[in-house]
Amino acid sequence: MAKQPYPTRLKLEHTSFCNAQCIMCSHYFSNNTQKKMMDDSLEERITPLLKHVKRILLQGSGEPLAHPHIAKYIDKYADLGIEVTCNTNLSIMNEALAMAIGRAFKKIHISCDGCSSDVFEGIRKGLRFDVFKRNLKLLRESCPDLKIEMYTVTLRQNILQLADIVSFAYEMGCDSIVITDLNPKDILDNEKDMIRNYPSVAKVNMSKAVAKAKELSLPIVYPKYILELKEVSTYQAELGIMESIPLFPSDDFQKKLQAFYKSLNLDSHSVRANETLFLADSGYHCNGICNYLLDEPYIDANGDVYPCCANGQYNIGNIYETSFEEIWNNKFYSGLRELFANGHIPQYCKGCLYLRNHYLNDVEVLDVDEGFYKQQYNVDMEDLTRRFKEFCKESSNE
Ligand code: SF4
Repeated sequence: MAKQPYPTRLKLEHTSFCNAQCIMCSHYFSNNTQKKMMDDSLEERITPLLKHVKRILLQGSGEPLAHPHIAKYIDKYADLGIEVTCNTNLSIMNEALAMAIGRAFKKIHISCDGCSSDVFEGIRKGLRFDVFKRNLKLLRESCPDLKIEMYTVTLRQNILQLADIVSFAYEMGCDSIVITDLNPKDILDNEKDMIRNYPSVAKVNMSKAVAKAKELSLPIVYPKYILELKEVSTYQAELGIMESIPLFPSDDFQKKLQAFYKSLNLDSHSVRANETLFLADSGYHCNGICNYLLDEPYIDANGDVYPCCANGQYNIGNIYETSFEEIWNNKFYSGLRELFANGHIPQYCKGCLYLRNHYLNDVEVLDVDEGFYKQQYNVDMEDLTRRFKEFCKESSNE
């Protein structure tokens, strides 16, 4: 196969550390056990690549602005003419950082799941609502041209204040709001927090949020299916169920969950994808090639390279061992592209979340069935899920 041109887009993890432990996030139980910060040696290794890159997404498992030298890196990307963007919890901001963002960013995504201290701080554990507001004000004033988009995960804990969150976004000078559904995790036993379990409450409050955004002319994206949910009970009855469950898990539960997670010793970093297992035809067919294979690699703070963030367990090279150019054209990368080009979904991509959610415009799976959704993991997920469920049940019985 001909050499693949250098990518023009890059996802780069500057840190896997997060200063928050949000109740729906893996940081809630993993407690930063494997935190890693990108250093100048990694930046040196990717310098040849940066000459070609036009856009960097500060992506990864941590809070990107928590890297102590993030302003310096953002400034460097701005000097190279690279546009930068990120999702942030906006708990860290100062004038130097706001200036660097003003130079390199056109748009930033900020996470906010509450417009009162109790809800915001209950969901985004470890963060403070007053600090978030102060930082948003500083960012808005320092970067008048920056598009600020608020990201809100709706869940049982904040559905009643969804319309107020929309007003809050508007009052704080955000340019748009994206409301997303909760992606539950067995480990957190949090399916009960999904608003679709409470259709009457979900519909009423989502409608109010959408109406408020219209009234304020604030662009909004939201899960439309919520408005079509079938009501099975009354608003009051659902409210009663929602309120019968403690709003937030206790500190004691979190401590035990963290200790239990640690005892499982799962936090090993990603492993190299095995060619025999993953560079094989999954048996599923497609039209098109996933664009991430052609133009947007992901490099984590350890220097491991992946085609995307959807399969963060299996890397396909490391920037400290081999040059980016070699990895970008190695047998694994080229093989994945070739399988797609010939209409076959590779085993590496089976169960991909982005394919599942039709997030990829350039590729379509032709014969999806239940089996397609089963991803390969480097641990026995069924056994793990069972053990977590048992743990959660035992802990809630205590
Ligand atoms: S199809 Fe999914 S898993 Fe495969 S490269 Fe694209 S985003 Fe990643």
